[in-house]
Amino acid sequence: MKIAIIGAGFAGLAAGFELVKKGHDVKIFERDPSPGGLAIGYKEKNWDWSLEKHYHHWFTNDKYILGLAKEINYRVIIKRPKTSVFVENNIYQFDSPITVLKFPLLSLVDRLRMGIIVGFLRYEPFWKVLEKYNAATVLPKLMGKKSYQMIWEPLFVNKFGKFSRNVSLAWFWARIQKRTPSLAYPAKGFLEFAKALVREVEAKKGKVFFQTEILELDGKNQTNLKIQYQNGEIENENFDKIIVTTPSFLFLKIAPTLPAKYKESLGKLKGLGATNLFLRLKKPFFREGTYWLNVCDKKAPVMAIVEHTNLIDKKYYDNEHLLYLGNYKASDDLYFKITKEELLKIFDPYLKRINPDYAKNIIDYQLFKAPFAQPIIPVNYSKILPSFKTPFENVFLANIEQVYPWDRGTNYAVELGQKVAKLVDNET
Ligand SMILES: Cc1cc2nc3c(=O)[nH]c(=O)nc-3n(C[C@H](O)[C@H](O)[C@H](O)COP(=O)(O)OP(=O)(O)OC[C@H]3O[C@@H](n4cnc5c(N)ncnc54)[C@H](O)[C@@H]3O)c2cc1C
Repeated sequence: MKIAIIGAGFAGLAAGFELVKKGHDVKIFERDPSPGGLAIGYKEKNWDWSLEKHYHHWFTNDKYILGLAKEINYRVIIKRPKTSVFVENNIYQFDSPITVLKFPLLSLVDRLRMGIIVGFLRYEPFWKVLEKYNAATVLPKLMGKKSYQMIWEPLFVNKFGKFSRNVSLAWFWARIQKRTPSLAYPAKGFLEFAKALVREVEAKKGKVFFQTEILELDGKNQTNLKIQYQNGEIENENFDKIIVTTPSFLFLKIAPTLPAKYKESLGKLKGLGATNLFLRLKKPFFREGTYWLNVCDKKAPVMAIVEHTNLIDKKYYDNEHLLYLGNYKASDDLYFKITKEELLKIFDPYLKRINPDYAKNIIDYQLFKAPFAQPIIPVNYSKILPSFKTPFENVFLANIEQVYPWDRGTNYAVELGQKVAKLVDNET
């Protein structure tokens, strides 16, 4: 069967790999110059390894992507880094029952209560009963107002902005369930791992086209694609099946003849973009070795501060210390409009509270942006979750907004890719 896949992110690559293994004639079209989608990486000339434009790691229970790495014999590094919170101007390690129990800014009763609720959610297997509850309403009642307001509310507000009160308890449950103390990372970076997958697809006679954009998916002739190749040439080509892995708003853009009702249902899915101001430093930013810092301050200009080289050895990056300053924002937010210099100016006073000398150590910095990066998971999301099947008989959708109840991630992109490939293969 002749199959087109739109997007060489991890969903598209995983789907492509499954389908070439079954002997199908697969073409993957990617508008970027490299594979990896949201997990795409880049490499400075003096580095040995590439690095993601937005911070990335895996949990050690990310079985779909770790299974894929194993299948293609790709080396994975496992480390136990330090996760901390920034509360009232201080950093506290906050990544185990012991560190939570030692947290000094809450009373013992509050700490125990929070620990019991988090522990309950970690071992409670039934997310479905939780999805009708709003996390922002229920959590303060369960764990106590003080703990919620000090730790969790700022995280919801900083992550989801105006949507922070709409997020389902099932989403929070999933975050607690999935977190593992150790983290995994593909040797040489996500870009190299994605390139290894491209090689696997090509070795089985699949074709992957970069800087090649799908301009239109024709609804009248439901298996026709209008393709703009790297050299600017535009061609139309027919396929037996098409798998779309772009976010829904991009699917709607390239397929204008989709029925109005379906468009309306996909239009209900909301999401935020991501910005990462990325700093290359001569010296560490965190003096106590934190990898991931959650900023528990609703007024902070930055949501998470992630020192990649406290997870992965700096020797792979010419001994530079690599720091992400991450936020999720709507794609029309100020952070998407201003320059890297202007954004650093906004962050600077806050960063100096943590490390007063950091600015002296900057080698260079960049601003990376992704207009759609984080779906909003409201209560009862299962009722609006899009299915793989679309109103076009031979067109399938497998994208970031179908990941549920888990928070989106490359692991689930692989799961979706594998599942949609099975569905398509079964239809032959
Ligand atoms: C800030 C941030 C942090 C994250 N942290 C982690 C993490 O720690 N661990 C983790 O596992 N995941 C993390 N993720 C999530 C992860 O990156 C995504 O869930 C995953 O990469 C999604 O893969 P996908 O294939 O479904 O979609 P995408 O990666 O979005 O792939 C879709 C592809 O389609 C292409 N495309 C779009 N339109 C067209 C067109 N018209 N023609 C051709 N190609 C097109 C795009 O260029 C893109 O490559 C993070 C994401 C962000 C933004």
